[in-house]
Amino acid sequence: MSDCIFCAIVDGDIPGRIVHETDQSLAFLDANPLAPGHTLVVPKEHHARLDEVPADAAADLFAAVNDLVPRVEAAVDADATNVGINNGPAAGQEVDHVHVHIVPRFEGDGGSPIHAVAG
Ligand code: ADP
Repeated sequence: MSDCIFCAIVDGDIPGRIVHETDQSLAFLDANPLAPGHTLVVPKEHHARLDEVPADAAADLFAAVNDLVPRVEAAVDADATNVGINNGPAAGQEVDHVHVHIVPRFEGDGGSPIHAVAG
C-alpha cells in the first residue's frame, strides 16, 4: 500500500467517501470537514505540488472542481464556497499530494476567507 494517504484512497486501499471521479481526478469528502460538504479534489497521479502537475491533469482537476462547486453548494444549501490549495508545507499543506479544498460557506457563518486558512 502507498505511503501517501490520498494515493491509498485513489487505489481503493483505504476507504474514502467518493463523490466524483474522472479519468485523472478523484473527489471525496474531507475526513475532518471545516463545514458540512467540505470536499477534496485530487489528481489520481501523485504530485506533491500544484506546479508539478502536468497541464492535462491540471486541466482535468480544475474541470472537476468547476463541476463540483455548484453541486457541493446545492448538496448542503451553501451560499458560497472557498476553493483553495495549500501549496507546500510553509503554506499549511499537511498531505503532500496536491488537493483542492472546496469548503462550503454560509451567510454569517463567521469563518475565515481562504487567505487566512494557511496563516
Ligand atoms: P490542512 O490539514 O492544514 O488543511 P492540507 O491542505 O494538507 O492541510 O489538507 C489536508 C486535508 O486532508 C485536511 O483537511 C484533512 O482533514 C484531510 N484528510 C486527511 N486524511 C484524510 C482522509 N483519510 N480522508 C479524507 N480527508 C483526509
